[in-house]
Amino acid sequence: EDNVEIGWNFDNSYTSLPHTFFKLQLPTEVRSPKMVIVNSRLAETLGLKEQGLQCKAGVEQLAGNEIPEGASPLGQAYAGHQFGHFNMLGDGRAILLGEHLTPKGERVDIQLKGPGRTPFSRGGDGRAALGPMLREYIMSEAMHALGIPTTRSLAVIATGEEVIRETILPGAILTRVAASHIRVGTFQYGAQWGKKEELRQLADYTIERHYPDIINDHDRYLSFLKEVIKRQAKLISQWQLVGFIHGVMNTDNMTISGETIDYGPCAFMDTYDPATVFSSIDTQGRYAYGNQPYIGGWNLARFAETLLPFLHDDEEEAVKMAQAEISQFTELFYQYWNQGMREKLGLFNEEAEDESLIEELLNLMQKYKADYTNTFRSLTINELSNTDLFKSEEFNNWQEKWQARRLRQEQTIEASHQLMKKSNPSVIPRNHRVEEALKAAEEEGDFTVMEKLLDVLSSPFSYSTRHVEYTKLPEPTTIPYRTYC
Ligand code: AMP
Ligand code: MG
Ligand code: MG
Repeated sequence: EDNVEIGWNFDNSYTSLPHTFFKLQLPTEVRSPKMVIVNSRLAETLGLKEQGLQCKAGVEQLAGNEIPEGASPLGQAYAGHQFGHFNMLGDGRAILLGEHLTPKGERVDIQLKGPGRTPFSRGGDGRAALGPMLREYIMSEAMHALGIPTTRSLAVIATGEEVIRETILPGAILTRVAASHIRVGTFQYGAQWGKKEELRQLADYTIERHYPDIINDHDRYLSFLKEVIKRQAKLISQWQLVGFIHGVMNTDNMTISGETIDYGPCAFMDTYDPATVFSSIDTQGRYAYGNQPYIGGWNLARFAETLLPFLHDDEEEAVKMAQAEISQFTELFYQYWNQGMREKLGLFNEEAEDESLIEELLNLMQKYKADYTNTFRSLTINELSNTDLFKSEEFNNWQEKWQARRLRQEQTIEASHQLMKKSNPSVIPRNHRVEEALKAAEEEGDFTVMEKLLDVLSSPFSYSTRHVEYTKLPEPTTIPYRTYC
């Protein structure tokens, strides 16, 4: 069975960059690796054979015990503002095996998360625990199904070893698939510790890999900045629209490709409240739901600073140019977000009062402590009786305005209904469901709960009866939900 071909097609380009940006590093062997979960649909789109990944050779490779042919394992250097403070970092517990070319010719990073120490590990053990890796698997695959750009999860391997955190936990390795792992923090690292020409090489490399359309632009680095800002504005608008809270929007967790990355303390908001924070370490609410667009702009300003030397020879001019672009972020964000909100309300065109219609609904949701996802779900299926919000006079008034607005557009109510169905997820990875799945897996070795959850989350816009059970809220509790890195 060792001979079953897996289908790797490595073609590594990151190693052509100056050595400033990475250190070659092999994974550390683990004792008795076992496949816990493999993503057959993702494997297929990558041109990999699930059967091959499941066999001994595949498991040994995804455990880091064997290196696939063509791989060139390395740890990437980066820096980052963590909660506003600048640090030298790097892949402390991640090793890039290499870049794999898919049958469609797309280039993706194949990275092991939790494969042992790297030159960037500092005090850490370079390892990961099973629970958090399964959590990343669930959350990232849910985001993908919601149509939100994200890194993907190919597999989780249990290492058969223990990791020591506050308690002793089973060890695991996640195989993460990404357009690339180049982050704002990669540019910050280059700007701080690299030579100017090395940073330019990184910029050119990233443009070629993620923004090939602008290669020949006269002002390519300015175009680069514009495009990254645009993708992040779009991405963060999508987070806001589904109630996703990243939890740790440090600059090293913001990709240049525009994919969501690093599913640590992330979670979906239930009750609508812009101040919602789940992360146990975010005591100041820096990364609260309502603050995410602001932080996005802040991070992009740090990115823009790294590009200053390439924007203009005169520093003052360069700063002016960068500021002009950064100031576009908020406007772009609101364009995407308003567009998305109109779609959630079944509106095809744009009217001047739409913004106040949206704001009024959100204010009412906050006042009546309404569940974010279920409010839009109820509006979609017209089931408007069971909550304090829907019973209120204020909501009645709002609903009349909304109905009149929907009738004013040329599309039929049925078309509006269909638009709402594809814009409002019926299911999201609700915290209590995720916890329940992880508990069964970790404590009882029962993966069926997680598999069923993953199956439901793979079609979040389906309003089938199979999903109804997953739309239910948890029993009321006085203990706030907390997530950990
Ligand atoms: P994160 O908060 O997951 O973005 O991690 C911040 C930095 O710490 C990254 O550079 C990680 O690679 C590194 N890191 C996190 N956990 C560990 C660990 N157990 N061992 C070594 N490095 C780690
Ligand atoms: Mg990170
Ligand atoms: Mg993390």
